[in-house]
Amino acid sequence: MLGESSLALLCGFHPFPRRDAEAAEKPTMATPNHIRHFTADNPGIMTLQGTNQYVVGKENAAVIDVALSADSNMDGIIEQAEAMGAKKIEKILLTHIHSDHCGGALALRKRTGAKLGIHRSRAGFLGGEDFQYSDNDRISFGGGELRALHTPGHESGHCCFYESGDKVLFSGDNILGFGTAVIRPPDGNMTDYLKSLERLLGFDISVILPGHGPLIGKPEAKIREYIQHRLEREQQVLSALRKGRNTIGDITQIIYVDVSPALQRVAEFSVQAHLEKLMREGRVKRETNRYLLLSDN
Ligand SMILES: [Zn+2]
Repeated sequence: MLGESSLALLCGFHPFPRRDAEAAEKPTMATPNHIRHFTADNPGIMTLQGTNQYVVGKENAAVIDVALSADSNMDGIIEQAEAMGAKKIEKILLTHIHSDHCGGALALRKRTGAKLGIHRSRAGFLGGEDFQYSDNDRISFGGGELRALHTPGHESGHCCFYESGDKVLFSGDNILGFGTAVIRPPDGNMTDYLKSLERLLGFDISVILPGHGPLIGKPEAKIREYIQHRLEREQQVLSALRKGRNTIGDITQIIYVDVSPALQRVAEFSVQAHLEKLMREGRVKRETNRYLLLSDN
């Protein structure tokens, strides 16, 4: 699925009507009863069918990510909370600060009176947060609890949320329903990203609920596939350097053969992120816009 010749985000992705998108999300396995989602109406090449906004509810509900401030989007989230019997939305949590995950957070806070949380490293980013969370913090809401896992890579303040009772991981943009996450330097960091993925392997997870795309029923296999894919890309970057390709553009050109113009920049960010990881490891050095192999890689 993660083809070598095309950018993985594009693999298998064709814009489709919303109804098909909903059908595609009909999982082969069910999510626990107290978890629902409402997909924001923001489909696109980077957001797949749209952002999955999750409602986790017991007596009260917590919402993970709010993409849009439109009334119709907030209605959709609130309806999900009501349908599961939650008395109110008590907290709003954000996996990260990209606008397709936090763009409607303040609006939902205002409408519902929910307390809005954000990772400590991003305190003040939205200007209306009520609390902050750090790695391993347990965040309670009426009858339930989520554990914040700081998982930088896609974004330096990125968090996943883990619910140990049902072994559910809300993965934000670290792991997607299909394709791969975008790592865009300088805030995006491939070294951190791989560490975050490795760390997630240490959790007992039965299902991953991603920020975009359908749920993932084989978490460990998916995480291993993600790690493997990045390591293969790294080998491709090293091989390109050995062949004397030494600019980001040149390296991208031989690795991402069929990439569409729309995703060219994304492919270049990925190559840059790999080169920066290799520089941190002392395997590559940079001279102006050229990258050179240092040791016998
Ligand atoms: Zn996203």
